[in-house]
Amino acid sequence: MGEALLTSQILDGKMMARRVLERVREEVSDFQKRAGRPPSLTVVRVGDDPASRVFVGRKMKACAATGITASEEHLSETVSLDDLCRLLRSLNQNPALDGILVQLPLPSHLPVSVVTAEISPAKDVDGFTPANMGRLTLGTPKLAPCTPLGVVEMLRQGGISVSGKHAVIVGRSSIVGKPLSLLLLHMDATVTLCHSRTPDLDRHTRAADILVVAAGRPGMIKAHHVKEGAVVIDVGINRIGDKLLGDVAFDEVSQKASALSPVPGGVGPMTVAMVCRNTVLAAGQRLSGLCDGTKGV
Ligand code: NAD
Repeated sequence: MGEALLTSQILDGKMMARRVLERVREEVSDFQKRAGRPPSLTVVRVGDDPASRVFVGRKMKACAATGITASEEHLSETVSLDDLCRLLRSLNQNPALDGILVQLPLPSHLPVSVVTAEISPAKDVDGFTPANMGRLTLGTPKLAPCTPLGVVEMLRQGGISVSGKHAVIVGRSSIVGKPLSLLLLHMDATVTLCHSRTPDLDRHTRAADILVVAAGRPGMIKAHHVKEGAVVIDVGINRIGDKLLGDVAFDEVSQKASALSPVPGGVGPMTVAMVCRNTVLAAGQRLSGLCDGTKGV
């Protein structure tokens, strides 16, 4: 492909994530002074999915860089639902542990909704438990999902106002599209949530001031889907051979969008940074007695 003439502001997730992590490092140090120990996170990984191994590695590395104590529980692909739930209950009861995260996807015999519901909401740094999803729906979140939080932080650092804007999200999953629609709604956007059964997708996407794409379809959003001057955030991560591609055809959309996030180096690093931010937040909330992490409230 020839040289593309870039006209968009590039929303540099790596740089923005570094800023988040600097702030988290300060919060970790404050917590350490108050609690006499650093905040702590345990990541549970089941099986040997190579992408999961990479994502968990990045989360552990970012935690280490901020002073958060992170450990991994690696379970076999064939672990039973009972054994996994027993482990989660023992992590819930450990008073020295602030955050628990189960890396997705899980093998098909382990239903995500059953597994996540087992995590204490006070330690639920992914924000996937029914209690935390409910609070998010009501507009009073304590711990919200990390990728949607990363998108919101990217908009904030990019100087992009949300209030009164029309935000269109492609993808309605419980980990990205749906919680993001709630966060943006509570920031006073008018939100349209599209999915695989939405007819005339481009009619909706072309109306967006802010377009967020999380469908897992490489390059599906082309220039004709985008309004001139729109902000476009690409959440998609698609491995094609040895390349990572987003859901947005970057070169052609960059001619039209006023701001655009790249893949890699966009929402991915923001998600990792938000895991660290949520861990220190969970630790602080437990220390101030806002939540009792041992009771699974
Ligand atoms: P998912 O498969 O659970 O959901 C995909 C959603 O996209 C569904 O709601 C589906 O209806 C919709 N969709 C699929 N094809 C569509 C189409 N042609 N038109 C309109 N809607 C369509 O996926 P997910 O877990 O939400 O992840 C979505 C993408 O985001 C994936 O590429 C994933 O790897 C990536 N992701 C990235 C991060 C990150 O940190 N950057 C985090 C989570 C997921």
